[in-house]
Amino acid sequence: MKLFKCQSCHQPIYFENRVCGNCGHKLGYLPVKGQLTALAPAGDVFTALVDKRQRVRYCANIADDACNWLIPADAPDEYCLACRHNRTIPDITVPENLARWQKMEIAKHRLFYTLIALRLPLHDLTEDPEHGLAFDFLADNPAAETQVLTGHDAGLITINLSEADDATREKLRTAMGEPYRTLLGHFRHEVGHHFWDILVRDAGRLEECRAVFGDDSADYGEALKRHYAEGPPADWQESFISAYATAHPWEDFAETWAHYLHIVDTLETASAFGLRIHPAEAKTKALHADLDFDPHQALSIEKLIDGWLPLTFAVNSLNRSMGHADLYPFIVSPPVVRKLKFIHDVIRAGAVVQKAAAPTKRSLLSRMMRTAAPEQPPAPAPEPPAPVPPPEPPAPDLPDQKPPVVEPPSDTPLPTPPPPDDAPPPVVPPGGPVELPPPGNQPETPMRMGIG
Ligand SMILES: [Zn+2]
Ligand SMILES: [Zn+2]
Ligand SMILES: [Zn+2]
Repeated sequence: MKLFKCQSCHQPIYFENRVCGNCGHKLGYLPVKGQLTALAPAGDVFTALVDKRQRVRYCANIADDACNWLIPADAPDEYCLACRHNRTIPDITVPENLARWQKMEIAKHRLFYTLIALRLPLHDLTEDPEHGLAFDFLADNPAAETQVLTGHDAGLITINLSEADDATREKLRTAMGEPYRTLLGHFRHEVGHHFWDILVRDAGRLEECRAVFGDDSADYGEALKRHYAEGPPADWQESFISAYATAHPWEDFAETWAHYLHIVDTLETASAFGLRIHPAEAKTKALHADLDFDPHQALSIEKLIDGWLPLTFAVNSLNRSMGHADLYPFIVSPPVVRKLKFIHDVIRAGAVVQKAAAPTKRSLLSRMMRTAAPEQPPAPAPEPPAPVPPPEPPAPDLPDQKPPVVEPPSDTPLPTPPPPDDAPPPVVPPGGPVELPPPGNQPETPMRMGIG
């Protein structure tokens, strides 16, 4: 992500800030401009200091301190480009639900930042009732026998709210033998299933995709069952980014897609800080990088990987110095780079020109279960950042039906446990991509609950 700054006092600020801690100006994010802007009151709306011709107001979700994005003052919509995709939010009169939903929204807005920066087509359910991208944030009902399953089905992403509880998520991460489990990772994974529908299946690239990821017509339910019974193949790290990616070609695509988003977003942050990595001990050029480019505009996957290897080696080393687990506990093998290349290509082919304004209507579909709207405290936060590009959506086509993807129910930990963390420094294959500094290689899985 970029670094943003307050236009009034030039203080660096975070993406999530509502108020400049230095000068006190209200702040909001203008998604179409990719800018966090200081705001000056203009009647009952605001003038955006980043572009004083713009009159804006906040997304309605600011009332619950769940959003700081802006929409044009005269837009008929209540919700911003990210929140218009919410179909269901939990009952936020329950205090723990509100706090968890706010954490979900922080991750979801970071997801949309990247989707918009990559100019991916984004349609809500109003624009595309069949395959529009929508989110249901659901809390388990203690009285019910079934749990909310995190997963994706034809554009609808369901997320179990309990994932926002750190203790619950960590318990699941450990039970599943995963080296990494975050809300942002969940969003990036699930949206990968949605874009497989749009940019692969509906775009006529199925055969091409199968040549890289394998035959997705294999029975999904059976594949998952087998995965949980037998675990991943012993040599999975040679060609998959995570153990879970071995379960089925759809999961491999979604896992690899999530990593593509991890890579571009983190490289952009590194670039925004002007990071240069030149380890004196490393003679090979593969461990050196000047991260001075916009990864969303990278013409080749090699450009991204050439920056990613040195960056992850450096940040993993920093984490180890502080006694933390590796920031990026994965190995990017040459076959994984080929999969990332396919994703890079479909994203570039699917990029669209962003429309100049905000959404026009709000999906009235449902804001179920919501009874009242609590307060809204502003979020503090210090520090810096910058702007972004725009998106807009063309129209996809229609395809055949694909079964819902529900991530593994998990009280079934994978058989294979995670190796420890000693890992050798990155290996640089001749001419090619790379291996990343390693850590405990472990399964990484996306969602699902279980385990109480
Ligand atoms: Zn300021
Ligand atoms: Zn919003
Ligand atoms: Zn999945």
